[in-house]
Amino acid sequence: ELILAIESSCDETSVAVIEDGAIILSNIVASQIKSHQRFGGVVPEVASRHHVEQITLCIEEALAEADVSIDELSAVAVTQGPGLVGSLLIGISAAKAFAWAHNLPLIPVNHMAGHIYAARFVQPLIFPLMALLVSGGHTELVLMAEDGSYEIVGETRDDAAGEAYDKVGRVLGLPYPSGKEIDRLAHIGSDTYHFPRAMIHEDNFDFSFSGLKSAFINLVHNAEQRGEELSTENLAASFQASVIDVLVSKTLRACQEYPVKQLVVAGGVAANQGLRQALEEAVEQLPDLTLVIPPLRLCGDNAAMIGAAAHVELAKNHFADMSLNAVPSLAFPTKKV
Ligand code: ATP
Ligand code: MG
Ligand code: FE
Repeated sequence: ELILAIESSCDETSVAVIEDGAIILSNIVASQIKSHQRFGGVVPEVASRHHVEQITLCIEEALAEADVSIDELSAVAVTQGPGLVGSLLIGISAAKAFAWAHNLPLIPVNHMAGHIYAARFVQPLIFPLMALLVSGGHTELVLMAEDGSYEIVGETRDDAAGEAYDKVGRVLGLPYPSGKEIDRLAHIGSDTYHFPRAMIHEDNFDFSFSGLKSAFINLVHNAEQRGEELSTENLAASFQASVIDVLVSKTLRACQEYPVKQLVVAGGVAANQGLRQALEEAVEQLPDLTLVIPPLRLCGDNAAMIGAAAHVELAKNHFADMSLNAVPSLAFPTKKV
């Protein structure tokens, strides 16, 4: 079974060909980041225009690299949301046109489900599983009882982890997105500034990163006014230590509260070397738990992960018709307790 998958929720135009939900035959990712960098963030209108220019080329390239002809495809999958409405609509329009022209079923996929299924390229998912989703727009703990079933057990009350990285990076004068560079600096410095660990002892699985961001900004501004020198490396290390402490502590507790067999960590921030290392050490306390983190190139946005998530929807005949629309705020249900 071969799925052509399309992802265009934010600032990456991506098209992949995936075999049986587990083998990547091609995964073309056209990043627009250079066009957005001078604005310090993604400009939605600019993103949509780039998607229009790239989408057809990416489809052709994905098929060519996979060495697959259109009549061998089983379905077309596309990200339905969450994301920027204009960006999503380009991918959805292309997917609809392709499915219509070649008489293929159309599979809508939740972008965050895609991030989780990136782990499928490392090893099969084992249920029940807990997913820590850490990305530019989301920070949530998602419980999966089986393939295609998602329940939020905890989430950020304000900023996402990746968003906090990018805002702090801006204060340090780093180019957008700054997660990777802060990660690098953090490994040179050490936790000398001791920022707060928000909500770490609270009896829930929610997160908050806006207080950390404010503490960081205040420290930098106060030092500037007093003419004091701060260490960029130590600032990065102190910020990252706070983020990692909270993420690891709450994730581990969630895995104990809901006895899961597997912990999947996914989303752009899952590329963080400090987080990956801290989680590997932490799960040693839970010998029955397997930790799965996708390789770096599959942590950020890509269509391969959309194809993997679509594979389980195809098995359930979860198809959309030509009325499929973008859902910018598409979200998993919250677990009732
Ligand atoms: P969402 O998936 O919530 O819709 P998004 O698709 O924009 O949001 P991703 O592309 O999954 O987000 O992730 C991008 C984020 O990951 C950015 O905020 C970026 O700074 C962050 N990031 C990337 N690499 C690292 C790293 N090594 N350490 C920390 N953060 C990182
Ligand atoms: Mg992106
Ligand atoms: Fe994403």
